[in-house]
Amino acid sequence: MLNSIASLTSSTAAVDAVLGAVPVPGQYFSFTKIVFSLLAFGILARAMTWTDTDLARLHGRRTFWNAIVFLTGLLAVIVLLFVPNFLVALLLFVAVSSAGLGSYILQRNSLVAETDRVFTAAHLKKVLIGSGAKPAEKPLPLLELQIAIQQTNGAHVTAPDDELLQTGFQLAHFLLADALSQRATDVALIPSGQTTRLLHRIDGVTTERQRLSVQDSSALVSFIKYASKMDVAEKRVPQRGRLVVNSKGGLTPLWVSTSGSSAGERLDIKLLSKAQELTLDDLRLPADQLNKIRGLAGEPKGLVVVTGGRDCGTTTTLYAFLRSHDAYVQHIHSIETRPLTELENITQHKPKVSEGQIDTAGTLRSVLRGDPGVVLVELAKDAPTLKMMLQAAQSRKLYAGMSSSNTFAALSELMTLAGDPQLLSRSLKGIVAQKLMRKLCPTCREAYQPDSQLLGRLNLPVDKIKQFYRPPSKPLVDEKGKPIICFTCKGSGYFGRVGVFEILVVSDEVRELIKQDAGISQIKSVCRKKRMLYLQEQALRRVIEGLTSVNEVVRISKT
Ligand SMILES: [Zn+2]
Repeated sequence: MLNSIASLTSSTAAVDAVLGAVPVPGQYFSFTKIVFSLLAFGILARAMTWTDTDLARLHGRRTFWNAIVFLTGLLAVIVLLFVPNFLVALLLFVAVSSAGLGSYILQRNSLVAETDRVFTAAHLKKVLIGSGAKPAEKPLPLLELQIAIQQTNGAHVTAPDDELLQTGFQLAHFLLADALSQRATDVALIPSGQTTRLLHRIDGVTTERQRLSVQDSSALVSFIKYASKMDVAEKRVPQRGRLVVNSKGGLTPLWVSTSGSSAGERLDIKLLSKAQELTLDDLRLPADQLNKIRGLAGEPKGLVVVTGGRDCGTTTTLYAFLRSHDAYVQHIHSIETRPLTELENITQHKPKVSEGQIDTAGTLRSVLRGDPGVVLVELAKDAPTLKMMLQAAQSRKLYAGMSSSNTFAALSELMTLAGDPQLLSRSLKGIVAQKLMRKLCPTCREAYQPDSQLLGRLNLPVDKIKQFYRPPSKPLVDEKGKPIICFTCKGSGYFGRVGVFEILVVSDEVRELIKQDAGISQIKSVCRKKRMLYLQEQALRRVIEGLTSVNEVVRISKT
């Protein structure tokens, strides 16, 4: 066999015979054509996989762009296989396949941060020469969620004829769509050295979403200022504005504010939720507490105080109290520095400012002259306002917001500010203290058996409690063992918040003690005898129900 091959190759006539069987280049099956075709298919296949991975990473329109790249690729392959002149076929192949891929690259490059653009001079340099550290900024994700930015009068905000503002227009849409899909209630852009930190506040917890390049954040801040009718050139003096985002979920009002510092300009956006539209029944109170709250709302006159720190949901509860009154029958007024929403048939006043001071008492005095049936004072923290409220509460219904962290601290403050135990005892009907607790994600929460020591420390019956829940203790994986992120909570382990309440109802016994100016500890022990539960105990009830975790109770106890 070997000999026969050797004899064949050694013979010139045989070599000619073999070569004669291979078609010359340009004919249908040329060796060069096969090599080039395989190379071209290889590059095309690689480009398709890259497009798909890139789309997945950027949350782009995956089906749409994959289809474009695939169909143009298919067309290019047909051209390469069937156009007779190979050189023409190859040039057409490159042109057709680049059309699809090129359009995708142009589109994605226009939307991502500069450092994440591909096939730019900087990118090619990085690929060819290599770069040291990974860039700190990531692109803003391109989301499928379609939104429109509107002015408060409903007019759509369009991209102005300015390069910076046009970039900002696109980035602002991604920023807000991303914030909505993440359920963020606050978004902040804070300059920090060479980058800008993008922070989200979700369920009351602030986390860094990503870092942006200074160019991107400056385009964003400029556009948002332009859209909310602020002075774009003014970068130091604090400014405030309003916008509305129109999305599938409805309208979300935004409060926008900017302020300057030595590090640069900071932007804060508050996304207002539907929480302000809740009624008392929507607050998800346990039945016994709902009855107490309904009782307080049903009292025709007197003062009800709702107390809690910042971001505790007190405004939502105060609004829910107001909604329990018939606004067509009673004249309802509110005094609020920055109303969270417009309340139907309720006259909302902003407190007057006199000599640079907010004059809540002065505003209340003029509101009371109109003889209203119900009055809400969002924040009553000065003696003149409280005294006036207690007086007025003898013949009408008043609600006051305070900032003490529990009912007894609020009562103690009221006793000091009122300075009149008789008046306080006659007017005060009850105090509601509240905090907001994150709810465990229903998709990925994990059951576990709490140890008896913990139950003992929490004063809970060891024999009765079988399991508690907590966020997943191990990273989630799919059926193939690949790490995944929970679709519901995006990996935070929590989804949404629920209020937890401590309710002090002024019973006859408590009223008598207030009248006698008794100490808080004495009032406390009377309330405890009537089985009143503290805020933390109410929070633990929610742990037993599986609604939240022990860690969350600990976290809110510290705030
Ligand atoms: Zn989850």
